[in-house]
Amino acid sequence: MKLPVYMDNHATTQVDRRVVDVMIPYFTEHFGNAASRQHRFGWVAEAAVENARNMIGRVINAEAKEIIFTSGATESNNLALKGIAEAYARKGKHIITAKTEHRSILDVCAMLERSGFRVTTLDVDQLGTVRPQAVREAITDKTILVSIMMANNEIGTIAPLSEIGSICLERGILLHTDAAQCVGKIPIDVQTLNIHCMSLSAHKVYGPKGVGALYIRNKNPHVKIIPQMDGGGHERGMRSGTLNVPAIVGFAEAVRLASEEYDDEFARVGGLRNRMEKILLSVEGAQRNGDPANRLCNNLNVTFPYVHADDLITALKDDVAVSSGSACSSADANGEKVSHVLSAIGLDDELARCTIRAGLGRSNTEEEVEYAGKKIVETVQRLRDASPQYQLVTKKRLFPVTALIH
Ligand code: PMP
Repeated sequence: MKLPVYMDNHATTQVDRRVVDVMIPYFTEHFGNAASRQHRFGWVAEAAVENARNMIGRVINAEAKEIIFTSGATESNNLALKGIAEAYARKGKHIITAKTEHRSILDVCAMLERSGFRVTTLDVDQLGTVRPQAVREAITDKTILVSIMMANNEIGTIAPLSEIGSICLERGILLHTDAAQCVGKIPIDVQTLNIHCMSLSAHKVYGPKGVGALYIRNKNPHVKIIPQMDGGGHERGMRSGTLNVPAIVGFAEAVRLASEEYDDEFARVGGLRNRMEKILLSVEGAQRNGDPANRLCNNLNVTFPYVHADDLITALKDDVAVSSGSACSSADANGEKVSHVLSAIGLDDELARCTIRAGLGRSNTEEEVEYAGKKIVETVQRLRDASPQYQLVTKKRLFPVTALIH
C-alpha cells in the first residue's frame, strides 16, 4: 500500500493508464491541428475528435454534433448560463438554480444578476435535495432557464432531475445540469431526463484535466447559445480555440471505460464507501451528511464535532488525503469560510468546520479503506483528547456529543 492513501476523487482522479495509452500517439505521431483541412495531419486529428464526439454522445444518448468540447465543467457552466441568458434575454430574464450548486454556477448567476437578470436560488432540504415542487413554484412567465446539478460534489446528493425535467418540459423552460461528478457513477440519458444542456468534465472520470464538454440539444427544441469565446469559429462557432486533441481523445476513452465498467465499479466502489462509512460513524457523535438513499456511490461526507477539519487533515497528511470540501472553493481568492453546501443543509458554521469529505475511487482497495478508516478514527480521538473544549463538555457531561447535531 502506497501512502498517503488518495481519497479525494471528487477533486480529481488519477488518469487511467488505458486513457494515457490512447492519448500518447496524439502528442507524438498524430499531432496535427484538427482544424487543418488541407493535409493528412489535420484529417487524422479531426477524425480522432469526431470519433471522440461520437463516443461521448453515445454514452449520454445524444448526437455527436450536440457535443461541444471545452476546457472543463467550469467553462461549460459559463457557456451554458451566459450563452442561454444572452440568447433568450428577449423572452425573459429569470433563472432558477439552487443553493448547493458549484461556484461556477453560483458566481455566473451573480454576474448575470449584476447585468439585469433575476435569479431565484432555491433552498434544499437537510439531505441536500431540491424539491421539484419548489422549482415548479418558482417558475414565472419570465423564466428562461433552470440549472440544477445532477449530483453534488461535496455531499453527493443526487437531484430528482427526471421530475424537474418533466416540469421544465411541461412549462417550456430550458433545463441545464452540471453533471461533472456523474459520468460512470449514474447512468445519464439526456432524452429520458429531458435535459437541454449538460456540463461534463474529464478529470473527474479518470481522464485528463483541462478538457470537458457541453451537451447542447439540437432539436425538440433547438437550444440557442451565444458563444462566449470569439475567434476561429471552432466547434461550430460555439467555442473558438485550437482543440486539445490528445485530451479530447483521452476524455472519450475515459467516458467509454466508465460506461462499460459502470456495474462493476458501482458495486465495488460503493461497497468500499459503505465500509468506510461504517468505520467513521463508529466515532461518538459522528454524523453523515447527504442523502443516504440517493447519493454518489463514492461520496462520504462526515462531521466529527469538536475536531476541525483543517486540524484533522493536517494530522492525517502522511496517511490519507481527504478534504474539507470543494477544491474549487479552496482556490477561491476570497477564501470561502465555510462550505456553502453544508450551510445550505443546515449545519452551523462550527459543525461545517468539523466536516470532511472522502471521495473514493477506482484505485482504492479494501486494505486502504481499513487503514484510512482506522487512522481517521484514531486521529479524531487524539485531537479530541487534546481539546479543552471537548474535555470540558464530555467530562462534565454537560451534554452528549450528539446533542450538538441537528
Ligand atoms: N461542477 C462540479 C459539480 C464540480 O465538482 C467541478 C469540479 N470541482 C466543476 C463543476 C468544475 O469542473 P472543472 O474542474 O472541469 O472546471
